[in-house]
Amino acid sequence: MRVLLVEDEKKLSEALTDILKKNGYEVDAVYDGEDGLDYACANIYDVIILDVLLPSLNGFEVLTKMRKKKVVTPVLMLTALSDEQDKVNGLDKGADDYLAKPFSVPELLARLRALTRRRGELVTDNVLTVGNVSLNLATYSLQTEKNEVRLSGKEFEIARYFFERPNFVSTKDDIISKVWGFDGEFISNNLEAYISFLRKKLAFVGANIAIEAVRGVGYKINIEKGEQK
Ligand code: CA
Repeated sequence: MRVLLVEDEKKLSEALTDILKKNGYEVDAVYDGEDGLDYACANIYDVIILDVLLPSLNGFEVLTKMRKKKVVTPVLMLTALSDEQDKVNGLDKGADDYLAKPFSVPELLARLRALTRRRGELVTDNVLTVGNVSLNLATYSLQTEKNEVRLSGKEFEIARYFFERPNFVSTKDDIISKVWGFDGEFISNNLEAYISFLRKKLAFVGANIAIEAVRGVGYKINIEKGEQK
């Protein structure tokens, strides 16, 4: 899960980043509205935490502009004002949820879980399942009833990307920015190499799913087309 945190109070941002990382999220933190909008429009986040009072563009403006650009990432708005009007404003402009400062950490985490669940992921006991294959988020292993194999860090992240979006075509650029990040080092044939490792491991566990190339676009998981053993 990748979170974009748009919060200009540095201390709060640092504290939230620590907490989120400890809870298994990857976090990109930015400190003003314009950066928030730019990052949001990269469309690689599972959820965005967006403060209302921000330099350059305020949270409402960021939200309006990103929704106009068809970025549908769930947004949790934060504000120091526990003002009913702010809440209505945010929800009207397309926020998915709202949290007034000061808030408790368990409440923040619960809201984030609820927002990311709404995207339709099947996460039960740290396991994502597609077809007859489960990806265990705690042990980094791919499992079927027949077999089990551990994945390397990058293989796991790529597998997780596909398992979270079983019905979508994922572009190579999306996968690369999600897995390697904006500033991560990346050599362009790495992705193909990792995909080929993953295909071998899917075949090894007897998966009935396959990672298929979509010509000129990227990849998609297809069910019932994997190699049967
Ligand atoms: Ca603020």
